[in-house]
Amino acid sequence: MSIEARVATIIDQVIRRNPGEVEFHQAVREVAETLGPVLRKHPEFSHHKIIERICEPERQVIFRVPWQDTHAEVQINRGFRVGFNSALGPYKGGLRFHPSVYLGVIKFLAFEQIFKNAITGMPIGGAKGGSDFDPKGKTDGEVMRFCQSFMTELYRHLGEHTDVPAGDIGVGAREIGYLFGQYKRITNRYESGVLTGKSPEWGGALVRKESTGYGLIFFVEEMLKARGQTLEGKTAVVSGSGNVAIYAMEKLQALGVRVVACSDSNGVVHDPQGIDVEAVKRIKEVERGRLESYGRGSGKAKYIAQGCVWDIPCQIALPCATQNELDERAARALVGNGCIVVAEGANMPTTPEATHLFIDAGVAFGPGKAANAGGVATSALEMQQNASRDAWTFEFTENRLREIMRKIHADCYAVADEYGKPGNYVIGANIAGFLRVARAMLAFGLV
Ligand code: GLU
Repeated sequence: MSIEARVATIIDQVIRRNPGEVEFHQAVREVAETLGPVLRKHPEFSHHKIIERICEPERQVIFRVPWQDTHAEVQINRGFRVGFNSALGPYKGGLRFHPSVYLGVIKFLAFEQIFKNAITGMPIGGAKGGSDFDPKGKTDGEVMRFCQSFMTELYRHLGEHTDVPAGDIGVGAREIGYLFGQYKRITNRYESGVLTGKSPEWGGALVRKESTGYGLIFFVEEMLKARGQTLEGKTAVVSGSGNVAIYAMEKLQALGVRVVACSDSNGVVHDPQGIDVEAVKRIKEVERGRLESYGRGSGKAKYIAQGCVWDIPCQIALPCATQNELDERAARALVGNGCIVVAEGANMPTTPEATHLFIDAGVAFGPGKAANAGGVATSALEMQQNASRDAWTFEFTENRLREIMRKIHADCYAVADEYGKPGNYVIGANIAGFLRVARAMLAFGLV
């Protein structure tokens, strides 16, 4: 069987064995289709069925999460945790609380996390979890009761050497606090390293909150450098207005970029003079509100209800909201408006058609596996601090993050070159991540 036929068979099998999980199929296809040249170079990977094994999660837990709302009414949600691969370290990956969550979303995220975590060079396996619980509009008490119920089942599957969750969409320091409190209570252990994204007041790493956004900009800086350019004076558009988007915008502005737009699921804010990041922080982090209230009365910014952020001209476009938010039409608009760099702050935000369009048009395209790996890399730095009962300064931690992002860029760049696709970060990231995991799996034998 030819290598191409072999890869096609693997993808077909994944689709057949995981019916209806379209995001998972997409994530597997995106990686598998780039691995042909690796199999050609390393027949031992085919012989030991490494790709087939990587595509099957090591474990998947699905559980009931009952809780009571403020009216004492019983609510039922579904909880998930998928430990996809532990070849390089304990399962590691965030928890997502969002109504769109189902097994297919968690599996795509966990699958991506394997390769992302591998290219950080840190000792962490790949996992993801979450629930279809919607934190939007819930009281603190409701969120707390939900988190306590969620952890009452999940705790038995966790441990600092087994599985270490963190945040993702809908899970920030507040939720991590409630989850940690319940874990500590049930297990009778102050096991700091069991969760990351904790508040720095009780064991969290400084910079963890900012790290995905900051890391994304450090990566973009390297992408531009590779093309003989700098960030200074460029215009950027960022989608989303959550944790990743906020700190990406903050770092962009600190490095001399004008950020003219951001968004939430209801609409777009276009502020040609530059987004007021402090205002977005207040709306999202303090008020837990909607962008609609941004700049009300100031007259400068425009709020476009249901608008598409990608129609606003920019040189740097950073999708930082959610999966498949940037499609072929949007990609065409960006390229037409002179965009030169796209880097993914979210996980799989660009559709496969849009990704191909960018690469064919010569736009530098940074896939999330590499470009947004700063978050989980800083989680690994948090685990290091917890293990040594230490707490590093902001500056020291940020420097570590910058070094890690530079190394990820250099590795992806070098691997893309080695495999005859210079400047193709999709191929570079997939192959660099795969090689690390595959070598460890081979070393461990058939387990
Ligand atoms: N949810 C983040 C990601 O997509 C971070 C996960 C972590 O820190 O474990 O990489």
